[in-house]
Amino acid sequence: ALRAQAIDQSFGDVDVLSGVSLSVARGEVAAIVGPNGSGKSTLLHILAGIAAPDGGSVAVPREAAGARSVGYLPQRPAFRDGFSARDTLGFYAQLLDGVDDEDVAATLDRVGLGGVADRSVGSLSGGMTRLLGLGQAVLGEPSVLILDEPGSGLDPAMVERLFGVVGDLAADGTAVVVASHELPAVETHADTVYVLDAGDFAASGSPAELLTETDTDSLSEAFLRIV
Ligand code: ATP
Ligand code: MG
Repeated sequence: ALRAQAIDQSFGDVDVLSGVSLSVARGEVAAIVGPNGSGKSTLLHILAGIAAPDGGSVAVPREAAGARSVGYLPQRPAFRDGFSARDTLGFYAQLLDGVDDEDVAATLDRVGLGGVADRSVGSLSGGMTRLLGLGQAVLGEPSVLILDEPGSGLDPAMVERLFGVVGDLAADGTAVVVASHELPAVETHADTVYVLDAGDFAASGSPAELLTETDTDSLSEAFLRIV
């Protein structure tokens, strides 16, 4: 459902991405992990189509079904204050075919914000703001879902809920790319893990494959061996 080929991106004389390629199938959860500053967000910007790379290409084949092709949660979601969480998603829903107020309410429940739906977005906590961003990203069930650090700042129950929502969407055929430092959750929920370091993937494979390759018992340990 998503294919990126030979992506290059530099800032000044720093080559952040050098020939990065990946393909994510329908129903697959692909996790991008890597040290701070390794280029995960830069890669996700390019996959989400909000920045053009210096080189390479990204293709998202158009799917027949679904109200939208790509949903994206930025690392630091921001919303215009003065509107409720419900209205914020409601405005967005107007841009999407066949997404109505009922879908907005169901999405708010799905991400755990049903109880604060009518509060102003400026009064939401940092974690709640991220959950609202997740709601906006999943509204209309996109065929490709790109999530940048969706779990950061969330309590453990919300991290599990978040990955549960991601798993449900993948089971319905969404291709998911998620950058995350939550390695235990990634180990449990990702189908494929890409370890980004020094401009390209230093390793990739299923969590089980990475543990075998590095002769470790957890993805956290494997990560420390690889980077
Ligand atoms: P984190 O885990 O902290 O979120 P990351 O892997 O997402 O890190 P990026 O935000 O993609 O890392 O940044 C990769 C590198 O590119 C960093 O050195 C960063 O300073 C640099 N960078 C990113 N965007 C720009 C920009 N617009 N201009 C200059 N440098 C940039
Ligand atoms: Mg980042």
